[in-house]
Amino acid sequence: MKCPGQDMQQWQFDAIYDVECKNCGYMVEFFKDETKRKCPKCKEVVLNDRIDLGCAKWCPYAESCLGPEQYKNIELSEKLKVRREDFSLLLEMVGEGDENNAVRDLFKELYSKNDNNDVLFDTKQLYITRSSDDELFEQATSIFNKFLDEKKRRDDVAGESRKRTEDMIKKFKG
Ligand SMILES: [Zn+2]
Repeated sequence: MKCPGQDMQQWQFDAIYDVECKNCGYMVEFFKDETKRKCPKCKEVVLNDRIDLGCAKWCPYAESCLGPEQYKNIELSEKLKVRREDFSLLLEMVGEGDENNAVRDLFKELYSKNDNNDVLFDTKQLYITRSSDDELFEQATSIFNKFLDEKKRRDDVAGESRKRTEDMIKKFKG
């Protein structure tokens, strides 16, 4: 059986798009189900962090359907995507305004320094600022907590709708 998400005939005009090479900035063209490509300019491997295979995120057969290599790439791309979305939510929580410049810069620095894709940044690094700037630390911690609350709220909502979908599929399969 062919997974319908993989059927090229069902692809729309958004099936091809550009992903920026993190190394040289070149826009690399991707088909939407490609997980990685070599940058034609600098030869770095570019991961497709906009990949959308729809069902692959929760389908129990995704790993055997796509192959372990492709599946691992999707997992990694998904992590990068989540991390990027989390970061933009965090910046949203910081808010506009010059009075927030310092805390915004701090978060940007922590985010770009961190190379663990599982987390937004290393919270230990945040604690280090405490000794140099207590006020900034307090401000950053309170915003970060607000972010965690909001993220939890959104995850709950997403979990709800995923569960509804799963129930629907179960019912459909009888
Ligand atoms: Zn490149």
